Amino acid sequence: MTYLGLGSNQGDRQFLLEQAIALIAVQVGSVVKCSSFIETEPWGFASDHKFLNAVVAVETTLTPHRLLDATQRIERQLGRRHKTINGQYADRPIDIDVLLIDDHIIRRPRLTIPHPLLLEREFVWRPLLEIAPDVIHPVFDIPVAQLVKMKKEE
Ligand code: ADP
Ligand code: MG
Repeated sequence: MTYLGLGSNQGDRQFLLEQAIALIAVQVGSVVKCSSFIETEPWGFASDHKFLNAVVAVETTLTPHRLLDATQRIERQLGRRHKTINGQYADRPIDIDVLLIDDHIIRRPRLTIPHPLLLEREFVWRPLLEIAPDVIHPVFDIPVAQLVKMKKEE
């Protein structure tokens, strides 16, 4: 199973997330689960515009890089013009991050899987655990839920 994290803090956020999910269903593969949409504070940058975040589970036959091509194409189709450069985050109509692809571990210039900030960002792990409470983190080979609990206790 592939898990994608979605976020929007510009425009009609709910509509943009719904459109993104509809385009994922057409261009990536069947969307088998979708978390609730949660409102969260901007992370890593200052903005007056809160995010709406969600995670979806997708069944896909695309290879990891073709999957990233597809999610980046959908970002552009929904009006995203700028990408984040050197961690300088900005408001965006839509962001689609690839969180997990089965038990794959990928460290390539364009693609890191599992997503490196998965455990740091509550707006990612909370909706992920809502739809996949038992999902395993392939790097540590233990459940994501357990890793999150360990981080909280640090
Ligand atoms: P952010 O999501 O951090 O705001 P962007 O969406 O602009 O930033 O993505 C920046 C770059 O991150 C992309 O060009 C992409 O190649 C790279 N990237 C690496 N790993 C991943 C991943 N797992 N999911 C999405 N993008 C990734
Ligand atoms: Mg992104």
